Amino acid sequence: MTCADFEILLCDYVDGTLDAARRSELEAHQRECSVCAELARDVAGAVAFLERVPEVEPPPELLAKIAFQIPTESAAKSGILQARAQNRAQDGTLASAWAGNLFLGRTFTFSKQFEDKIRALGTAEVSAALKKHVDPSKVTVVTAGDFSKVKP
Ligand SMILES: [Zn+2]
Repeated sequence: MTCADFEILLCDYVDGTLDAARRSELEAHQRECSVCAELARDVAGAVAFLERVPEVEPPPELLAKIAFQIPTESAAKSGILQARAQNRAQDGTLASAWAGNLFLGRTFTFSKQFEDKIRALGTAEVSAALKKHVDPSKVTVVTAGDFSKVKP
């Protein structure tokens, strides 16, 4: 098992949903790798902390606050478009996108048209999409930090 495998399986391990074979592989790696052992201790500490924290009802204005915190639509759009352009500058991502386009019978014209649609979005459309897809009652707010300094 590699450290990357360990990281991937750690959540299932902590949740107790890992099968016995994987669990013993993970425990064996943890005994041999101090980095992963420390990661497992940190995660276990975070989970123990979260189990002590009382559940809080999200305030009704949370959605409005989230929408307000989102950078201006032009900054958000430029971030998405910039990320897409940077991805196309990576050989592996480009090859993968090209193969995907060939499989789907598309060309990069599809990507250009998609990005043109993003450029054309206004605040109203972004806000409507947020309201359609984000249910504030299902949002989990997690505050992270140094748990050793927090009293239960
Ligand atoms: Zn490791």
